[in-house]
Amino acid sequence: MPAVAYVGLGANLGEPRQTLSEALGELASTPGILDCRASPLYGSTPVEAAGPLFVNAVARVETSLSPLQLLDALQDIENRHGRLRPYRNAPRTLDLDLLLYDALEIDSPRLVVPHPRMHQRAFVLKPLTDLTPDLVLPEGRALDLLAQCAEQELWPLLN
Ligand code: ADP
Ligand code: MG
Repeated sequence: MPAVAYVGLGANLGEPRQTLSEALGELASTPGILDCRASPLYGSTPVEAAGPLFVNAVARVETSLSPLQLLDALQDIENRHGRLRPYRNAPRTLDLDLLLYDALEIDSPRLVVPHPRMHQRAFVLKPLTDLTPDLVLPEGRALDLLAQCAEQELWPLLN
């Protein structure tokens, strides 16, 4: 049985929409990714950071990769898009976060799942609930958590 995982995508440098669409293609064609469905794209203002507006999306994947193998694959894709890490929350050409991996809870030096801040971020919760409206996180129903983020600016981008 493949696992179901959710990946958050974000970019606010370069050509964010093109970067996200390329990253989604690369994710879908990664060995061990058996199925990949992408949410619509959203625009958002940076949270806890300065810099240009973000483009965000979430992908639901079915995968035979382990959580760490999937993180490796995500970091390979980030690196191919020239991701640098000059300082915490710096603007980024591409950020790929492993949000959920089945119902696993992982707390290791390289990987924390569910992603510790996803339940308070509209730019994650909105595309996540587009894909899976009845999703439940440890903190509660994703749709209820989204309703608590109403003050965060988020807008759909035309495709
Ligand atoms: P952030 O996404 O928080 O802005 P980075 O993308 O620079 O930060 O990631 C920093 C580190 O976070 C990575 O080296 C990775 O090992 C670790 N990490 C821990 N949990 C996760 C996760 N769920 N998804 C992606 N990276 C994670
Ligand atoms: Mg990241």
